[in-house]
Amino acid sequence: MVTIDSLHGVNDKIIEQLNKLNIYTIDDMLFYLPLRYEDRTKIKRLAELQVGDNTMVEGTIQAAEVKYGKKRSLICILEDDTGTIMLRFFHFYPALREALKPGTKLRCFGEVRQGYHCLELVHPQYELLDYSNSVPDLAEHLTPIYRTSSKLNQTVFHSLIDQIFAKYEIIDYIPEALRFKLNLMPLREAVQILHHPTSEIAATLTDEKHPAKIRLAFEELLAHHMSIYSLRANLNKYNAAKLDNAGTLVQALLAQLSFKLTAAQKSVITEITNDLRSANPMQRLLQGDVGSGKTIVAAISALQAIESGYQVAIMAPTELLSEQHTRTFTQWLEPLDIKVTWLTSSLTKKKREQTLATILSGEVALIIGTHALFQKDVEFHKLGLIIVDEQHKFGVHQRLALRNKGNQAGIYPHQLIMTATPIPRTLAMTAYADLDTSIIDELPPGRTPVTTVVMPNTRRDEVIARIKNVCTNEARQAYWVCPLIEESETLQLQAAEETAIKLQKSLPELKIGLVHSRMKSKEKEQVMDAFIAKELHLLVATTVIEVGVDVPNSSLMIIENAERLGLAQLHQLRGRVGRGAVQSYCVLLYQLPLSEVSKSRLGIIRDNHDGFVIAQYDLDIRGPGEVLGTRQKGIMNLRIADVRRNKDLINDVVEIGKIIFDNYPEQCQALIQRWVKEGLNYGTI
Ligand code: ADP
Ligand code: MG
Repeated sequence: MVTIDSLHGVNDKIIEQLNKLNIYTIDDMLFYLPLRYEDRTKIKRLAELQVGDNTMVEGTIQAAEVKYGKKRSLICILEDDTGTIMLRFFHFYPALREALKPGTKLRCFGEVRQGYHCLELVHPQYELLDYSNSVPDLAEHLTPIYRTSSKLNQTVFHSLIDQIFAKYEIIDYIPEALRFKLNLMPLREAVQILHHPTSEIAATLTDEKHPAKIRLAFEELLAHHMSIYSLRANLNKYNAAKLDNAGTLVQALLAQLSFKLTAAQKSVITEITNDLRSANPMQRLLQGDVGSGKTIVAAISALQAIESGYQVAIMAPTELLSEQHTRTFTQWLEPLDIKVTWLTSSLTKKKREQTLATILSGEVALIIGTHALFQKDVEFHKLGLIIVDEQHKFGVHQRLALRNKGNQAGIYPHQLIMTATPIPRTLAMTAYADLDTSIIDELPPGRTPVTTVVMPNTRRDEVIARIKNVCTNEARQAYWVCPLIEESETLQLQAAEETAIKLQKSLPELKIGLVHSRMKSKEKEQVMDAFIAKELHLLVATTVIEVGVDVPNSSLMIIENAERLGLAQLHQLRGRVGRGAVQSYCVLLYQLPLSEVSKSRLGIIRDNHDGFVIAQYDLDIRGPGEVLGTRQKGIMNLRIADVRRNKDLINDVVEIGKIIFDNYPEQCQALIQRWVKEGLNYGTI
């Protein structure tokens, strides 16, 4: 890697400015593409000028004077064989006035505007011509214009780029045979075209599919893919506990379940079991649509670690979900004589200390909590498996940092990462290339798809009548979700509280509960317990119930201001109902007026039940950041490529990535270093 300070004329100030643009190396400079181009390759005749032209003209000054109007300005009339144009300068020094006197020959570049009397160039860039000497050559190619700050001007960029082309070898790390196979443009040619196109080519560069742009996008995606891939390979060098056992506990759990596992659940369990028996740490992503039954898969995985004498930590994104998991796992595992504990922030200091002691001594086998599980003072006795539920709510960095936690004497815990947010394949191939994937592609039998209706909130009364019917005549339960739409959290919670009060007024015969993120864990727990025990008919909630909450008796979900939520989020929320055999309903209320885009988005949710299809729409409409969760945007810090625009490239990226990774280690490392600066930091374990 050659750093920019090796270029001529680069001082500390310039370095500082370039660094602000994330430019550190010569390669960075080359991949910093122009915003647009100016055509200084030809001179336009004055008679042919049109308003809006960005163009170069040449002529002789015929007259020059200073005008004192509202604003003082220097005006010159420039003339060529065909016509004239007015040059106007508002800021000028006496020297300029002196230089631009009649008879002076001038070459100017600027935008042609309509003035009071004639066409004008305001503050053109200009160059005095001296015909007794030779006239300067015209540019051979278009002049690139870079996005920059006021402290760094275009000439610096031009000089540096020119130096790089003149002095440095631009190494193409993609082996020629592979490049040929994919018909990729050589790197040097691609950057040259992008920085210095001819006017014919420039017109085609607006097309993102131009071979020069494709070349760079491909290389960038390739580098990202390989960086994650090499993290993975590194990990394989580490040891994990071989969790080999007779499966007695698993059999005991299965025997007490009221349902049979689906074929999909069985097959992912086989994949997980094989991993757990290996001496390498498992890194497995378990994807399964909402309600597909991931929790029991987690429990079965946990039992295999526990039977082998190891502890298991389960991390959930919300207190609410971690509490529910504690309830579920206790119910499943206590009959097997296994101790489960909930590590929550709401414990008293004394209780927390006691809990930590039981974790350290190995007395408890299964520990459930939020990310607080991984605070410094939490020490495990012998951690064999980490399960992360609803991974999309955590950042990728958090996930990778977890790998360190629980490392004892060079033995790393296995990791099972579960998510209901389906990750479209194109994205999974890049952002999650370090994980093996298992998919539960079937729902437990007897589920009836949720019927979804979309209506304006002016029809609230009908909805309220519906709730009354469901909760009284049908003895079912319902959720009313108020998404957080105000800027301030306090206002948001007020809105939820007010909604609960209003609904209680309209539905005096129903028992209504309220849960939101600001409540104390204990209070939340009480409300959820009451809802599960069917003591409450209707639960008014913020989106805290989005993930994981599992109360099969509820069959009606109302989501207010649905147009403000992401598709994946709506799908998750809707997944809270339809968990039993009865027909469930989801009502999406929207605020009028509704834009066309919002209308079609709500239509997508109404008409689709497959989380993968919905996530694909989300990806198309809102981009990868939304699908992965905003906190994860960092992982794909792409400069040129775009996972949506360039999704056709992914298959080749994966294929070629593997070949380069296996056969060309030096090129592989060079590509990663060239493109993924932050990438290697989260790789250290
Ligand atoms: P998710 O994948 O969204 O986490 P859960 O694990 O919460 O789904 O499961 C949803 C519901 O389905 C739970 O009530 C669970 O007990 C039930 N369930 C899981 N597997 C099966 C199965 N094979 N047959 C019937 N019900 C199942
Ligand atoms: Mg779940």
